[in-house]
Amino acid sequence: MSELPAALADLPATPRMPTVFIGHGNPMFAIEDSEYGRAWRALGESLPAPRAILVVSAHWMTRGATMVHIGAKPKTIHDFAGFPRELFRQQYPAPGAPDLAKATIELVKRSHLEPDERWGLDHGAWSVLLHMYPKADVPAFQLSLDLGRSPAEHFELAKELKALRERGVLVIGSGNLVHNLMAMNPGAPPYDWAVDFDARLTKMIEDRDFRAVAETAPRLPSARYAHPTPEHFLPVLYPLALADPKDELQFFNASFDMASLSMRSFTLS
Ligand code: ZN
Repeated sequence: MSELPAALADLPATPRMPTVFIGHGNPMFAIEDSEYGRAWRALGESLPAPRAILVVSAHWMTRGATMVHIGAKPKTIHDFAGFPRELFRQQYPAPGAPDLAKATIELVKRSHLEPDERWGLDHGAWSVLLHMYPKADVPAFQLSLDLGRSPAEHFELAKELKALRERGVLVIGSGNLVHNLMAMNPGAPPYDWAVDFDARLTKMIEDRDFRAVAETAPRLPSARYAHPTPEHFLPVLYPLALADPKDELQFFNASFDMASLSMRSFTLS
């Protein structure tokens, strides 16, 4: 344990925290009653109480650097347009976790992480946390997605975050297993390419072939429709990289919204 940053080493070890992937989808799920929101709420109630939450969200994209937000009071970021005023008024006033965030920067040795004080919590984080932890009393912080990295490089970086699970930190990847906004079609059945990509990814995860998720999945023929851009795919690599062979895998919210968004989520615990 001597190689752990002091801020982590000083914290009492905890049983291994579960790690989670959430398909977050439409920001309206933050305030609308939905099967997805209800499942997020049930998940929050069923997980062991975390000391803090680290969210890797599709909506914090950087280039050339991976940032970690170290602010004590992360602001609620309304990073969307064309939604009702009620959604813009929504706040999620969870405290930040500056010490843990700085320890996370130290923990990752093979990649360079940088502190950030400008971000906060984007809707990939708060629209889900609002349901999971409605009291907003668990400190939360984010790590950005460096779009300059390949999926395999994200997977390698994520592996270095493993010690957080042993210190009570709940690491959440928040994206979507299939995400094509241009193809959204409310009420329609999911597209063949959406079903294909979701099924192939699910099989790789069930087979615990996580390297294939990082290296093979992005090259599947259905991948360019399932993910015209990579940001909603990359967060899945974080919980997978943190998986322990003893973890039990459980899928939930396994359905499509608007024909082109897979809401499938999972826990490893
Ligand atoms: Zn999103």
